[in-house]
Amino acid sequence: VAHLSFTDRARYVRELSEFLRIPSISSDPARRPAMCEAADWVSAQLAFANGRVVETDGHPVVLGELLGLAGAPTILVYGHYDVQPPGDESEWTTPPFEPSVRDGRIYARGATDDKGPVLVPLKVAEAVLAQDGALPLNVRFLIEGEEEIGSPSLVLFLDEHRDELEADLVVSADGAMWRPSEPSIAIAAKGLLALDVVVTGPAADLHSGRHGGAVQNPIHALARILASLHDDGGAVAVPGFYDGVESIARADQEALARIPFEEETYRAEVGVPGLHGEPGFTTLERLWTRPTSR
Ligand SMILES: [Zn+2]
Repeated sequence: VAHLSFTDRARYVRELSEFLRIPSISSDPARRPAMCEAADWVSAQLAFANGRVVETDGHPVVLGELLGLAGAPTILVYGHYDVQPPGDESEWTTPPFEPSVRDGRIYARGATDDKGPVLVPLKVAEAVLAQDGALPLNVRFLIEGEEEIGSPSLVLFLDEHRDELEADLVVSADGAMWRPSEPSIAIAAKGLLALDVVVTGPAADLHSGRHGGAVQNPIHALARILASLHDDGGAVAVPGFYDGVESIARADQEALARIPFEEETYRAEVGVPGLHGEPGFTTLERLWTRPTSR
């Protein structure tokens, strides 16, 4: 374990603040200069690992690597330097691109997604390198600038840079920590299937006084379709939905049960009168092991 001194901490906070000040909003074409600035900034941070900016058809990707440890595994660290638009700035206590420390937390757009988490593996690698002169494994870095817009350039990029990205394991530095007090590593993520449902109705608006009762209202049809997704108990009622879903292994079930988790705190946090979900499973099992339909 690398030793990190207090001066390191102060520098990390200063550097993270620098990063947070760059308004790298990938969805806003007017922010293109900020996107390049952020990519350059990350690349400079990766100077100890041959950091470089690689252009794509969209926003640039930053690559870096520390290799050469024969026989050791290679991990690829993934992250992104782009952020979501800040929305209505009047709803921010402090401006989104002026980082502010309150109660030991940094507030700014992108602080947790994903600029803070991107810096963690960078700083760990840098600190271990400074202390031991080498890492115990080979590391590659890939920090993209299009995660918040669906990574449109990444597939082609991965294909074209296959040789520079070869790894035994990918570690995503994107995603939340389970608790500030408990470090965690997510080992799987739910996939996602999104569908648009379009319900069509009469050719023109119909007056309910003249036509009511003779024609089905598309809103009612849509409500029926949505309501049919779940049964009264909260399980998904779509035929075949649970086909092929593996049941939770006993060891996993026990491991989940050992995680400190207070349902009441969670309920209060999300602000609902009661938790709701598939019967027969604990909240953590529902959250982390069961497929859902939203
Ligand atoms: Zn993210």
